[in-house]
Amino acid sequence: MAEVKGRVAVLSGDGIGPEVMDATLTVAEAIQNTHGFKIEWKQGLVGGAAIDAQGKALPAETVELCKSSTAVLFGSVGGPKWESLPPNEQPERAALLPLRKIFGLYANLRPAVLYPELAGGSPLRADRVAGGFDVLVVRELTGGLYFGQPKETVKKGAGERAVDTMVYETHEIERITEVAFRAAAGRKKRVTLVDKANVLETSLLWRKTVKAIAARHPAITLDFMYVDHAAMQLVRDPGRFDVLLCENLFGDILSDEAAAVTGSLGMLPSASLGQGSFGLYEPAGGSAPDIAGKGTANPIAQILSLAMMLEISFGHRAAADSIRAAVAGAIREGWRTGDIAAPGEKSVGTTAMAGEIADRVASRPGRS
Ligand code: NAD
Repeated sequence: MAEVKGRVAVLSGDGIGPEVMDATLTVAEAIQNTHGFKIEWKQGLVGGAAIDAQGKALPAETVELCKSSTAVLFGSVGGPKWESLPPNEQPERAALLPLRKIFGLYANLRPAVLYPELAGGSPLRADRVAGGFDVLVVRELTGGLYFGQPKETVKKGAGERAVDTMVYETHEIERITEVAFRAAAGRKKRVTLVDKANVLETSLLWRKTVKAIAARHPAITLDFMYVDHAAMQLVRDPGRFDVLLCENLFGDILSDEAAAVTGSLGMLPSASLGQGSFGLYEPAGGSAPDIAGKGTANPIAQILSLAMMLEISFGHRAAADSIRAAVAGAIREGWRTGDIAAPGEKSVGTTAMAGEIADRVASRPGRS
């Protein structure tokens, strides 16, 4: 068995972050033992916890820890205790945004998976999601309307004039497209470019650039869909999609829509990637202050973030697949946390759910 070496910066953060992270590290221990590799897991302070201890949401030593690591496994940050701070000092803004910037994280991967057994939790009609679905939204994270210049509000006559600028350059589109095609190669091999090419100049550049890259990936099927149509198809027939490739604004909206139609925020991981193999992996949800400290949070989003990290940053697909199979097995065999339990169904806490998954990883690696 290959020995995977490296260090992971473990930034648990606030609210349910530390609970689900502790539970996830038991799965990490099991997967290392089963697959015969060893990673150094090093904890760092982030978010409200770091503000309380050191007065800053992202202390310099946490940045140094991340710089010396192969990847960051991130919990969640924020909560009522820090909501009265000035916006620039709030945990999310003062920790996550600088991390994205420092590490040039330009690609955001958000899988939205609905397990067939949990189809009843989806807000969509049962016949539309009976078999479950598995959609991956690949969102460009550092360009487009959110960052383009000019970006300003100026006085005009009796009122004001506000401008945001949507701008993309070829190289920005190329690098995210490569990420999407690589991801599709390990899935159903279909990429849908979401755009608004009937009205946006940037969308025309996206189409041209993505088509050129597609020519180098003959095994991947590429198609195009206007964003308004894609938003509609996501609620009519999400199972028709494999990988949705989106510029920043469209990806922001569609990744949340795709998450919402699974009906279970506690199940969804995410990855933010830069150049090379470095990545930041975190649950799609937040710090869930309403259930923090109760031991009832669903650890699966964090556990599946661990699986994404092992696959993408450590190149260990087999370990990632073992974890995904263990999660699917636990769900299939009826294990539920409160957020995914149907009315009247029995549920277990964070530690017990992670224990079920760790046991499956340890005893039946690769089982699906
Ligand atoms: P949230 O995602 O924390 O919670 C929304 C709902 O989903 C809550 O009812 C919560 O209990 C539930 N939920 C989320 N994750 C769950 C899990 N693993 N298991 C069971 N239930 C789960 O969103 P919010 O309430 O809007 O935000 C709460 C705090 O989290 C805020 O301070 C916000 O700024 C912060 N936040 C942080 C991040 C991040 O760290 N990346 C992302 C989003 C929100």
